[in-house]
Amino acid sequence: MHLIYAIFITLLGLAIGSFLNVCIYRIPRGMSILKPPSHCPHCGRKIKFYDNIPVVSYVVLGGKCRYCRGKISLRYPLVELLTGIMFLLSYLRFGLTWDLLKVLIFLTFSGCIAFIDGEHMVVPDVVSFPAIIIGLIFAIFSVGITLKSALIGAFLGGIIMFIFRVGGKWIFKREALGDGDIVIMVMIGMFTGPFGVFISILFGSLIGSIVGIILLLKKKGDILPFGPFLIFGSFIYIYLIQFSKYLTIG
Ligand SMILES: [Zn+2]
Repeated sequence: MHLIYAIFITLLGLAIGSFLNVCIYRIPRGMSILKPPSHCPHCGRKIKFYDNIPVVSYVVLGGKCRYCRGKISLRYPLVELLTGIMFLLSYLRFGLTWDLLKVLIFLTFSGCIAFIDGEHMVVPDVVSFPAIIIGLIFAIFSVGITLKSALIGAFLGGIIMFIFRVGGKWIFKREALGDGDIVIMVMIGMFTGPFGVFISILFGSLIGSIVGIILLLKKKGDILPFGPFLIFGSFIYIYLIQFSKYLTIG
């Protein structure tokens, strides 16, 4: 039976990844995620359901629109594949539990935020705020962490990033962090508690610095969004460190 669950959850991940592509493209452009139905950005023709199968359609069509042969971004199958793999890994890590549901929801919302922040340097409130509320609801029912732990985590995440934001501005004389980074850490704190906050900031800063230095050495020195690195840091905590009663306060 385990194999059936694993396949089902992977397929669910591929489908959610497909929906994430719609969100990642439309939300920062102020478009509705429900209508109009998916269409080719080049010729505007509606994409048929059989051309909208995650990963498979991209391969079958050779990365081009069926009608105008316009190029389809590689990001579409990559986001689908990545979401499918992450869903499968989550199932292998957490089994069929409430923790799994919580992790999958966190993965969906934070993945959406990471891609939008990575491309547009904005964290849309329509994604982050519902995520914080959902994290709170899970905490009320003590899924993964206790309510106390979640509230401390959210508060700490917010306050630490606020201090970083103000301090960074004072030291570097420019905006090093945005309000979006504060919201992201409140969200991460609500889902993972105070230890998740520390690990996310630690690994987020570490990996962000390494990538920043590499880009600087390659003379591509540009302002990097911090959000995707913080979210990556939270994945390290969730999958590799712990998401259990042992590491919660209260
Ligand atoms: Zn087309």
